[in-house]
Parts: sequence; C-alpha cells; structure tokens
Amino acid sequence: MNTGSVEPGDPKTVDVLVIGLGPGGASAARTAAAAGLDVLAVEHKRVLGEPVQCAEFIPNPMGAYARDAPIRQQRITGMQSILPSGHTHTSDFPGLMIDRAEFDRALAREAEAQGATLWTGTRLLRLDPAPGIAVLRRADTEYSIRYRTLVAADGPHSTTAARLGLAPLEVVQTRQYTVPLRQAFNDTFIWLSDAYPGGYAWLFPKGDVGNLGLGLDTRLQPDLKGPLEQLHRQLIKAGWVGATVHRRTGGAIPVGGPRKPLFQDRIVFVGDAGGLTHPITGAGIAAAVISGEAAGQAAAAFLHGDPTAFADYDEAMQDQFGPALDRAVARRQALTPLWLTPAAAEDATQRRGWVAFDDYFAAMAS
Ligand SMILES: Cc1cc2nc3c(=O)[nH]c(=O)nc-3n(C[C@H](O)[C@H](O)[C@H](O)COP(=O)(O)OP(=O)(O)OC[C@H]3O[C@@H](n4cnc5c(N)ncnc54)[C@H](O)[C@@H]3O)c2cc1C
Repeated sequence: MNTGSVEPGDPKTVDVLVIGLGPGGASAARTAAAAGLDVLAVEHKRVLGEPVQCAEFIPNPMGAYARDAPIRQQRITGMQSILPSGHTHTSDFPGLMIDRAEFDRALAREAEAQGATLWTGTRLLRLDPAPGIAVLRRADTEYSIRYRTLVAADGPHSTTAARLGLAPLEVVQTRQYTVPLRQAFNDTFIWLSDAYPGGYAWLFPKGDVGNLGLGLDTRLQPDLKGPLEQLHRQLIKAGWVGATVHRRTGGAIPVGGPRKPLFQDRIVFVGDAGGLTHPITGAGIAAAVISGEAAGQAAAAFLHGDPTAFADYDEAMQDQFGPALDRAVARRQALTPLWLTPAAAEDATQRRGWVAFDDYFAAMAS
C-alpha cells in the first residue's frame, strides 16, 4: 500500500481525509481520488478487512464490485425464513456470498490505483473541526493533518461523530461462528424467534462452510453466546453443520436509521457511521459503497466551488435509503414492546417484523 510521506508535526494539508477503510471509506477515497483530489485514507486495522465482522452476503447488484475470483465464494438464490411454529417461507433473494476481507481489500486497491494514499495501522484520535485539523496516531507517532473535507467512514461507533459531540447510534450486537457444512445449500436461512429479541439468527452458506450467527437487542437479552450455541447444537443434531468452530466474530449493527443530516460543515458521514445500515436485516455493505461513492463525488463538487454539495448528498441519500430505513425503524419500534411477551412467539408477530413477508410492508396497524 502507498505509504505517503509526512513527518511528525508537519501539518500536511489534504483535500479529503477519509477515516476508515471499510467499503464506505474505500469507495469514497476512490471517487474523490478519481476526481483529481489529494486523498489520505486511514484505517486503524493493520491488515485491511481483518478481522472479518460480517455474514458476507451481498445482493446481486453488488456483484459488479465482486468480480475477482477470490472474492466470489458462492451464489445464493433464495432466503428461507423460519417462523416460531417451524413454518418455513421461501422467497427469491439472489445474491453472492463473498470473502469479505478480499472484498474490502479490492475496494481499497482501487482507491489506491486512483491515487489515494492509504495508511493502515492509523487511528483518528482527535478532531478540531473549526480549523479542520485531525490528529492521527500511527505506530506510536502522532500526526496533525489539515483537511479541506473529511469523510467519516469509521463504522457504527464512529470516532468522528464522538469527537463532534454527536449522539452514539443505537445498535444491536451480534455473535457469529463459521462452521463446516454437512450439506450443500443455495439459500440463506433466517430464524425468527422470541429467543432472539430485537433481532434474528442466520445461517449463510459459503461453499463447505457457513456463517451461523445472531443479532440481539442486548437491553432485552444480554446473552448472545447461549442462544447461538443452542442453535449450533440443534443444527449439528439435524445434520446440517459440524461441531468445529473455524472462526468466531461479532460486532455492532446500527439500527436507529440514518443520521439527520448526514453532514456537518465539511464533514460527511457514510455507511455505518451514517446509520445507513438496514435496521431489520442488518445489511449495510451496499449502502456503504453507494454512500461512499456519492460522498467522494460530493467532496469533489464542494472543493470545486459548490457550497450545497453536502446538503445535496444528504438529500440524495435520504431519498434513496430513507423510506426503507424509516419503515424498518418503525417496525422495530412496533415490535420492541412485544419482544418479552407471549406475542413474540407467534408467527403473526414475526411476519410483521421481517422483510420476507407482505405483512412487513402492509400499512402500520400495530
Ligand atoms: C456480524 C455482522 C454480520 C454482517 N453481515 C452483513 C451481510 O451479510 N451483508 C451486509 O450487507 N452487511 C452485513 N453487515 C453489516 C456490514 O458489515 C456493514 O454495514 C459494513 O461493514 C459497513 O461498511 P462501512 O465501511 O460503513 O463500515 P466498516 O466496514 O465498519 O468500516 C469502518 C472502518 O473504520 C475503521 N475505524 C473505526 N474507527 C476508526 C478510527 N478512529 N480511526 C481509523 N479507523 C477507524 C474500522 O476499523 C473499520 O475498518 C454485518 C455486520 C455484522 C457486525
């Protein structure tokens, strides 16, 4: 990776400072650099994309970003949603299982190929937004960077937002095991149950392994390990998966809907940092890539003299993602009081809370 050259204490100026090199930050860095801007993108992980914190499913339209063979792992045709009664609903839900670490690294390489400078092992420590100075730590050395615009792509617990004094995003927590598969599957599996309050459990097949996980509102149910191990045991007994756990992961997923607005002065939020992840499904890769690209273009427009570029970005993203995210937030709010009651064990309740069912899209009656 391009390491750039800045001496400690040297207040280097960049057009765009990108914080975080997940799909959102890499996409922003690529489009901003492609527009001719001087871009520095920093990521506190030492190895991009690792550890993976993802179930690794992308919908078909994202396939254009996953062309390299090592990224593509398996085709998915449908989704099987399993209700508390055991009834299974199958829906078309085509997409791809990917190697998420390779996916993130490929996006970062494209940003670098457009001329962005990438610094791994580098953390945003402090921000002074009035002059536009960010203090970064890289290998025990602090660097001050003067930025003309900043893209906050630093995930669900955005340091940028915290340093600006913005409220933390509401999140659910997840836990996931990668396990061997004893059968080949072409569908993803979703378990809807009162055992997973504020979330659901999943098995996403990826060749001869599967990502088995769950997400929960830990205010309603603090234990993630117990219910995941119980589902694992159930699937071992059913002959679906093996007992070995190849990889354990987890992480937070924003579920409160988008920040409003998605910018503050010359700082713009993308992906999870902007709350653009779907509050019911937890899917956020596509929104991160789309918002990242748009933010990079907005930064270019802003620096080329368009004073409303970030307001336009905000409007475009709220138009594109707002209706689906607002519906999901409303569904979560309607379900929250039911989770710890007998109603949570009823199929009808779970149908209203999951995207595979018409009931989810019906007018809010509950
Ligand atoms: C268990 C799990 C399963 C998921 N499964 C799916 C799925 O199957 N499909 C899907 O579409 N979505 C899924 N998601 C959501 C998806 O992973 C996110 O929506 C996506 O990663 C958002 O991309 P991003 O670039 O906005 O943020 P991130 O990918 O979170 O990237 C943010 C980056 O910022 C870095 N960073 C944070 N703070 C700092 C700092 N101070 N300085 C420097 N760098 C910093 C982080 O290290 C990180 O690399 C899942 C999430 C979880 C937790």
